[in-house]
Amino acid sequence: MDDDLKPLPVINDDNRDFWNGCRNHELRFQKCEQCGHVRWPASLICPVCFCRAFNWIVSEGRGRIYTFVVYHVAYHPGFQDDLPYVVAVVELTEGPRLLTNIAECPIDEISCDMPVEVTWRDVNKEISLPLFRPAVSV
Ligand SMILES: [Zn+2]
Repeated sequence: MDDDLKPLPVINDDNRDFWNGCRNHELRFQKCEQCGHVRWPASLICPVCFCRAFNWIVSEGRGRIYTFVVYHVAYHPGFQDDLPYVVAVVELTEGPRLLTNIAECPIDEISCDMPVEVTWRDVNKEISLPLFRPAVSV
């Protein structure tokens, strides 16, 4: 695969803490101080109770595949060598759902509700992408 051709996340003031965590192989999420809701993407206010106060938490990096698709067509040249590849929504045990890729698993063994854990692709010094693979231990 050619990571040099792929589009990368654009870091801004809202998502900087999340991507700094990824660089350290940590999934960081905002947890509302008032109602406890864990949210993604990062935002100024809680979407449940509209409170502005929050703490950053580090996810254990485990969850289940909520849904997925298999791409057989590359809609960007950077993904041509990856075909076929899987784009999935993973629901973490803390609640957030991440759009991600499933790695280290034959495509025909992937299923919804499958337990997965985070694994990391270090693209460059700034960006490490959280991918998911079948959970080693449940
Ligand atoms: Zn809240």
